[in-house]
Amino acid sequence: MSTTEQTFIAIKPDGVQRGLVGTVISRFENRGFKLVAIKLVTPSKEHLEKHYADLSSKPFFPKLITCKLTAPFNMLSGPIVATVWEGLDAVKTGRSIVGATNPLASTPGTIRGDYALSMGRNVIHGSDSVENAKAEIENWFTAEEIISWKSHSEDWVY
Ligand code: ADP
Ligand code: MG
Repeated sequence: MSTTEQTFIAIKPDGVQRGLVGTVISRFENRGFKLVAIKLVTPSKEHLEKHYADLSSKPFFPKLITCKLTAPFNMLSGPIVATVWEGLDAVKTGRSIVGATNPLASTPGTIRGDYALSMGRNVIHGSDSVENAKAEIENWFTAEEIISWKSHSEDWVY
């Protein structure tokens, strides 16, 4: 059964620096999701460690949260755009808009399938479960920063 959910979507530093912020936002808007929070943020290492806590035992973890344009992974290489989107099945559908983690496997038509070539520069983050979405939204936004608003199209389009 479809349920209304919120999901956390972030445009990673490589996506921001390539000018893909508008593209990502358009894809979520065009699909029918409602933007309920957005900000440009330069994350600290500690903040990213919390965000990616479930990956802390992975061999690639240190590189994921290390800096610099010369490193293969780059979550600390510049600002990210943090967003929250709301709508029917937002978490699962959001993941299908994002595409597979490894761009080699991500289908054309997905964001990663259209714009990414490497795992460490794969443009976008998307929550992978309702539970993780809740934790991620709390990690990046205060309750006041999540804006509850009603689109008139909700009455009849979606
Ligand atoms: P996703 O972002 O699709 O949810 P994960 O949560 O598994 O993927 O991993 C978080 C991020 O860590 C990925 O988006 C990718 O940038 C990086 N990553 C994942 N797996 C690897 C790997 N095997 N080698 C290098 N980087 C990886
Ligand atoms: Mg993940």
